[in-house]
Amino acid sequence: MVKPMQVYEGKAKKIIPLDGGKVIMEFKDNATAFDGKKKAQFKGKGWFNAQISATLFGVLEERGVKTHFIGVAGDNRLIVEKLDMYPLEVVVRNVVAGSLKKRLPLEEGTKLPEPIIELYYKDDSKGDPMINHYHAKILGISEGEIREMERIALKVNEILREYFAERGIILVDFKLEFGKNGRGEIVLGDEISPDTCRFWDARTRKSLDKDVFRFDRGDLISAYEELYKRLTGEA
Ligand code: 5GP
Repeated sequence: MVKPMQVYEGKAKKIIPLDGGKVIMEFKDNATAFDGKKKAQFKGKGWFNAQISATLFGVLEERGVKTHFIGVAGDNRLIVEKLDMYPLEVVVRNVVAGSLKKRLPLEEGTKLPEPIIELYYKDDSKGDPMINHYHAKILGISEGEIREMERIALKVNEILREYFAERGIILVDFKLEFGKNGRGEIVLGDEISPDTCRFWDARTRKSLDKDVFRFDRGDLISAYEELYKRLTGEA
């Protein structure tokens, strides 16, 4: 008997294994924030996150960044390369917002003189704590691997910051996740969407991302739709 392959269900996505080193990443309509303490459902959110991620992975691939993206497989599904994921969140910041303003005496909206990279250990039960290179080494992730993830993260930042600026949007900060593919290469995985990035309208500074849900700043789907329209020109 063929053993059924295990489906992994996270807070916002389902991972469905396929043959041949590929998986389907299905985006759900669920929204969670504050380590899962705040929850809601938004019809259409999964569609926007899948389509926006596909668009942005395409932009990055075109400019030479290796990602797990293979193609779109339906409304809220992407086909991606199977990766062995690092238990890390790599955050890049261009502008002060979110947890940075709580940690340092900096005002929200201040442009940073150069991008900041932060590493977090991905574990909701511990509140995704911030870690450094020494902690990463203890977790079995070498200095070389961390440097490679940081190099790719800065390249992603350069490409996307410009891409969004051309569309009247400030890329404030974002979170990336990486994994190793079957050939042992470090590849950008997960998603790049308004769930994992902060986007501000350059003129009004209005949030076009999950902060709308986190801090009750209006209608989440209208914000995601506005972002999608700016990226694709489609209604
Ligand atoms: P902050 O540390 O300010 O809360 O988050 C920085 C950036 O990383 C934001 O764009 C935020 O959306 C993203 N981010 C950080 N941690 C997580 C997480 O656990 N889940 C998601 N979806 N995004 C995160």
